[in-house]
Amino acid sequence: MTIDVKPSPVTSPADTAVPEIARVGVIGAGQMGNGIAHVTALAGVPVMLLDVKPEALSKAVATIARNMDRQVNRSIVSAEDRDAALARITTSTDYAAFADADLVIEAATEKEEVKRAIFKSLMPALKPACLVASNTSSISITRLGAATDRPEKFIGMHFMNPVPVMKLVEIIRGIATDEPTFQAVQALAVKLGKIPAVAEDFPAFIVNRILVPMINEAVYALYEGVGSVSGIDTSMKLGANHPMGPLELADFIGLDTCLSIMQVLYDGLSDSKYRPCPLLVKYVEAGWLGRKTGRGFYDYAQNPPRPTR
Ligand code: NAD
Repeated sequence: MTIDVKPSPVTSPADTAVPEIARVGVIGAGQMGNGIAHVTALAGVPVMLLDVKPEALSKAVATIARNMDRQVNRSIVSAEDRDAALARITTSTDYAAFADADLVIEAATEKEEVKRAIFKSLMPALKPACLVASNTSSISITRLGAATDRPEKFIGMHFMNPVPVMKLVEIIRGIATDEPTFQAVQALAVKLGKIPAVAEDFPAFIVNRILVPMINEAVYALYEGVGSVSGIDTSMKLGANHPMGPLELADFIGLDTCLSIMQVLYDGLSDSKYRPCPLLVKYVEAGWLGRKTGRGFYDYAQNPPRPTR
């Protein structure tokens, strides 16, 4: 009698080896993208920054240089390290720049259709081993990963704003994310001087699941006339010991981003407690997106910024 023995599946070392991340690409040169490029370059890793808008790229490089100068003035970084870091940053509007990237971090506008369109253009430009991360604040990592040709190499890497200052990075595995990808991205977060926290792939993960509904509630308090902008912010600073008031923080994050996160929570958890405040919707419709457009709950043309309500 012969027994047909099939060879057991063998895991080759190549399947389990943690890939080294020696070159990083960043998509989106807005406030998060420039911060991610900043900390990556300072950690000694060459970084390619891409945006659809060439003017966003020049603005980002100027912002990074200004923020690094501030770190030099505070003796956090040496002038030599700043110069070396700036020399590691290149910019492009063409995905071909990512041909030799080991990891690309997507940090473009918080809209699923924008991110899906980006992944469609990005995939053909990458080498097969390249890992892909999204800095999304709220969108399902599993769903975004499924929109790529490599869901096993796709992961959430959620930095906090401002990136050079904030210590936390949430790391979110999609259902298909493999262990070497998780290990490699966790090691990179540590190399960037961050503390990784693992979050499960639920809408808005940990920090924004808690933070953004609080901001939305502050906008409801304003909408219903419970308090004025400065009344609400002062109350939370002095009464709850928050370093920033919730409306000031909303302007800092970007009201469009806050609204997108509330919509993801509302749709993803099907619970009316997450409905976005109509006043938040109105501000976004008006293009009053906070600091980045010069007006939100505060008017930044005034110094100090003046509450708008
Ligand atoms: P932002 O508006 O400052 O920047 C977005 C950038 O993406 C812009 O420069 C825009 O030109 C670019 N962009 C848009 N479409 C593009 C495309 N098709 N290809 C390439 N670039 C494109 O936004 P942000 O605050 O930097 O947010 C970016 C991402 O980071 C979002 O997913 C957001 O949820 C997430 N995030 C934001 C914060 C925050 O506090 N703002 C914190 C953590 C994570």
